[in-house]
Amino acid sequence: MFTLINLPYAPEALAPAISAETLSFHHGKHLKAYVDNLNKLLPGSGFEDLALEAIVSKAPAGPVFNNAGQILNHNMYFTQFAASPRQNGPTGKLAAQIEKQWGSIDAFKAEFVAKGVGLFGSGWVWLSAQEDGSLVITQESGAGNPVTHGFKPLLTFDVWEHAYYLDFQNRRADQLNALWSIVDWKVVEERYV
Ligand code: MN
Repeated sequence: MFTLINLPYAPEALAPAISAETLSFHHGKHLKAYVDNLNKLLPGSGFEDLALEAIVSKAPAGPVFNNAGQILNHNMYFTQFAASPRQNGPTGKLAAQIEKQWGSIDAFKAEFVAKGVGLFGSGWVWLSAQEDGSLVITQESGAGNPVTHGFKPLLTFDVWEHAYYLDFQNRRADQLNALWSIVDWKVVEERYV
């Protein structure tokens, strides 16, 4: 049985990048539905005793993969944000690796947003680490997660319309750029170990 995560901040703490109203639907309705759906699908599926990452890595395309993937993705998404004060940029070895590969943090952010804007339809843009520590930005459609490529996911922006339509309507780029103001890079760095 999986349970709906609690958000580690107050509902209004991420505004205006993400409003309390968006959180109430995105976390309280969309994510809750994925949790409820997976719990109904798991009995008899052969995936009952696995962690989310293992289900996403092993399940074939279909409802179990989609619901498990969406839970894993949203759990990582919601917990990478924090109320102020938060760590507003990368430091240490993550900052050094980004600068090595992209030249600057701003150049990395620009490519990340461009890949989110350029993803056709619903999905996620991800920053992940490969086994040698190098970083990669990937676009994943639907419920996709970079664990299916053997990568370690570090940071993700949700580009499903339900993530931003109440606050930004069709302006996906504006939403993605606003998200930088609420990312807690301490969390992202802790994923890069
Ligand atoms: Mn979502």
